[in-house]
Amino acid sequence: MTTSTTLATRLKELREASRLCKFAEILNSMDEECRDLITQIISIPQEDSGSVSNVDLVLVLREDGYDIGRSTISEHRREICACYRTGRKE
Ligand SMILES: [Zn+2]
Repeated sequence: MTTSTTLATRLKELREASRLCKFAEILNSMDEECRDLITQIISIPQEDSGSVSNVDLVLVLREDGYDIGRSTISEHRREICACYRTGRKE
């Protein structure tokens, strides 16, 4: 028997599957701590001092086995990726 939480999670994944870029999918697959940290990192504008560059972020993620490119992160950061392309009504 599946719990309602599991079903909700699956439905959520189904709903978001085609609307998320690869970077967002990777984020969703991470544990909460990593997801929060990355969300904080990319929320700092790249022109700010103290911001983390996409290159550095990619290197760390690749070291951990994630297959992701700099442009994928860059597009997500600039909100021009699939996540933002289709008007999300949420
Ligand atoms: Zn995205």
